[in-house]
Amino acid sequence: MSLIDKISPKGREKILRINWWSHDGRWFYYTGQEVGFEVANKLNMLVNKSIGKAEMKRLLAALNIDEARAAEYFFEIIETVSDFYAKDVFEIVGLTKEDDNTWIYRIKNAPCYEGTKKAGILDLYQCACYKRAEGWAEACGLKADVYIRKSLVNGDDECEVVFSIKKDK
Ligand SMILES: [Zn+2]
Repeated sequence: MSLIDKISPKGREKILRINWWSHDGRWFYYTGQEVGFEVANKLNMLVNKSIGKAEMKRLLAALNIDEARAAEYFFEIIETVSDFYAKDVFEIVGLTKEDDNTWIYRIKNAPCYEGTKKAGILDLYQCACYKRAEGWAEACGLKADVYIRKSLVNGDDECEVVFSIKKDK
């Protein structure tokens, strides 16, 4: 038995998840320090959308869900993707259906908010959680406008990401 086997698979997952997100904060911080936060924010938006797409595709492949089914079950899949990749790190409230074409994904607490506040760069940080959600939607082939309505970073009590489903004309 190796030393690492003393930690349960769930415990190991948790450490990897926390490390991964702390890397996320660190690259943002040092990029900002080195080349300015305007560039860091721009890159963070691109990275979030791109990783959102990639992480969703990996999950769908592992679950054997094709794109057509993914779009159909998108809002069920979101619970899984956010639970798997973000739990222990973010406080996710979950999804609320506002009307037939509108879903709201809510986050109560986020390391991007806590971390940038602690580092004294909160006023330089732009909330990018909706970009990740946009990547998820795109990977599932869901046609939706994804945008942020409330943001922890702007002083709101939570982040609210809106999925506004585009209707085929
Ligand atoms: Zn946010």
